[in-house]
Amino acid sequence: MGYLLNENNFNDVIQEWQKDYLIYAPKKMLGEGMYSDTDITRYAAINDISEIEWEKKSDFSFKEVLLPLSETLFYYTEGTVKEAEANRKSGAVIFLRSCDLHAVKRLDEIYLRNGYEDFYYQRLRANVRFLVIGCSATYDNCFCVSMGTNHIDSYDAGLTINDGLFHINSHWEEMNPLFSRCSQKEAEVVIPFVTSNQINVKVPENLSIAVNSASLWKEYDSRCINCGRCNFVCPTCTCFTMQDIFYTDNGKAGERRRVHASCMVDGYTDMAGGGSYRKKNGDRMRFKVMHKVYDYKKRNGYHMCVGCGRCDDVCPEYISFSHCVNRLEDAMKEVTGNE
Ligand code: SF4
Ligand code: SF4
Repeated sequence: MGYLLNENNFNDVIQEWQKDYLIYAPKKMLGEGMYSDTDITRYAAINDISEIEWEKKSDFSFKEVLLPLSETLFYYTEGTVKEAEANRKSGAVIFLRSCDLHAVKRLDEIYLRNGYEDFYYQRLRANVRFLVIGCSATYDNCFCVSMGTNHIDSYDAGLTINDGLFHINSHWEEMNPLFSRCSQKEAEVVIPFVTSNQINVKVPENLSIAVNSASLWKEYDSRCINCGRCNFVCPTCTCFTMQDIFYTDNGKAGERRRVHASCMVDGYTDMAGGGSYRKKNGDRMRFKVMHKVYDYKKRNGYHMCVGCGRCDDVCPEYISFSHCVNRLEDAMKEVTGNE
């Protein structure tokens, strides 16, 4: 069903939702950008529709709503362990773009269907509703069309803005009476999705781990400064590390947290006894790229990368993930001697 709402109407809907849900959306944070006196767009809880940043791509994704940057798992004292409560007990409504809803599928695959279900992810994932904001135009560095993530229908509601009205296409039957009550009128609504990007990416058909010995990776040894930004903004990066926080000197009371980790950062592969699997930045870049466009697909049948382009947006060294993927064809020719 389709509904047309003005800003006040939409805020009435938000107020009703807030009885059962926290509402998360991309929000501009003034002065919090990566350079001084710059802003950033990232996800936060909102109370009013005017707080949402509609124009810009969010620098960070929705991911932190489902996988907090730092999450306490349990508290312990000498003889007892107590599970930490979830940081959100209500449901959540998340405003996001098509590529990011495709990324939710990747997170679910990793945390819910990859062996044991992750209890901490599951409890934040339960009762989450997704509102997809249509994309009328592509953003810088996006390559969603190449990755097949530019379009999606499996949303609870789709939304686009025309002539100052919010046009909503609802698949959320339970909410249709509310949309109907709050809307100016009901109408057919088509959510726009881009059909082309400025950047196109081609993953070679014959890509194999033979490409690991290609010369291109060496270039990243010196270019990459292993800051990890590309991982932290990626909606499909899912690694974390554990931290024990001791409340007492004897270490017998404290809490265990999991915090986001990055395969590009020094120390990620350090082992007990002093071993480390990937010491060079080029090896880390190879691991990241191959995981996004090769390993994951071998297991799950579709690529991990959704083509949001945030890793390219954020890299302080102007390293382009999409450009690197487009170099894999030549790299395969180099290693197979097929030039
Ligand atoms: S590729 Fe760029 S963003 Fe990623 S770790 Fe290297 S320098 Fe940082
Ligand atoms: S690898 Fe880059 S383009 Fe792909 S999903 Fe992650 S941040 Fe987006």
